[in-house]
Amino acid sequence: MPHVSRVWRHGILFVPVPETPARTDVSRITSLYATYCHRPAHPSILPIALFFGIISSVETSADLAERTLYTAHLEKKACISESAQCYHFEFVIDELESFPFISGQFISAVAPDANGKQQTRAYSIASAPKEGKSGNRFDLCVNRVEGGFFSNYLADLSIGATVKFHGPHGHFVLKAPVTDSIFIATGTGIAPMRAYAQWLFPESGEDRSEGKEIWCVYGTRHEPDLYYQEEFEALAARKPNFHYVSTLSRADNGWTGLRGYVQDHVATIVEERAAKLGQTLPLPAVDPATPPAELSFDIHSYICGLNNMVAGVREKLSSYGWHRKQIIFERYD
Ligand SMILES: Cc1cc2nc3c(=O)[nH]c(=O)nc-3n(C[C@H](O)[C@H](O)[C@H](O)COP(=O)(O)OP(=O)(O)OC[C@H]3O[C@@H](n4cnc5c(N)ncnc54)[C@H](O)[C@@H]3O)c2cc1C
Repeated sequence: MPHVSRVWRHGILFVPVPETPARTDVSRITSLYATYCHRPAHPSILPIALFFGIISSVETSADLAERTLYTAHLEKKACISESAQCYHFEFVIDELESFPFISGQFISAVAPDANGKQQTRAYSIASAPKEGKSGNRFDLCVNRVEGGFFSNYLADLSIGATVKFHGPHGHFVLKAPVTDSIFIATGTGIAPMRAYAQWLFPESGEDRSEGKEIWCVYGTRHEPDLYYQEEFEALAARKPNFHYVSTLSRADNGWTGLRGYVQDHVATIVEERAAKLGQTLPLPAVDPATPPAELSFDIHSYICGLNNMVAGVREKLSSYGWHRKQIIFERYD
């Protein structure tokens, strides 16, 4: 976990030495900045991005005083995988009538550790914004990390217990207008995909997918760790333009579904789609002089999970000539 200690107001970025991105990895620096500062990085931060090896995700009381902290109470909790110790949570923010956010964003949960220091961790909201009387509710999907502080703190919460948080934060949101899209996740990286799917295909109300083809490619090691599988399968059965592709990297003999890593199945989707549309891969490179406002793509990918997987998928998509603006991602570690 790149425990970015904090980004000072002057724009100085601290990241731990073992996790230090290469100094030339500008996109990683700007992504860290955007994630932790909750605003896009201005290019001027780059020359002063310093790598000091300070490992902490402690927020000072001064940092927290600047945030609006909300309190949410836990209304429902379900263990959705015993083996992975993964929990689905439903929270209610009693002090608010509605909690506006965009599907794909995260909250920063805050709690004191055993030494009384305020710890902060990001958790993707696993539901789309809810309407009406439920507008102050949101879901999380969290698995225990062995030896970790916050994941265990949440996993041990009892119904009715409260959690403080600030947010919503983040830019891992769907591009507008909606295009064909591939959602790619491993583990709890499925949380923002569930939020996207609920927003695009609400159970009641208008479908927002605009008829675009949406694939959700979800990978994990073992079958019980495919979180929300029944929901995604039900959605795929209900919506012909939603395709749920689950794959296991360490399946038992009895598993009859797909095997292997997500990038292999993403490759199949990209190649079959290109063949159907008569496109040749790799796609021709976009002229680098094209102003950002004039860039437009007929497909995007949204990748969420641990860094190794995100890097593997990005590499695969880049090899097909995909432009970096088509590849939107959120790393959990
Ligand atoms: C934007 C964003 C959204 C996130 N959303 C979610 C989410 O929806 N659900 C969720 O479960 N987590 C999510 N995470 C990860 C989460 O913030 C914490 O990192 C995770 O819960 C571990 O925190 P901890 O305090 O238990 O462990 P820590 O005390 O921080 O770490 C303990 C040890 O575990 C390792 N570690 C830290 N994180 C992970 C991890 N994710 N997997 C394996 N090892 C790890 C660390 O390197 C360290 O050695 C998200 C992270 C980010 C940046």
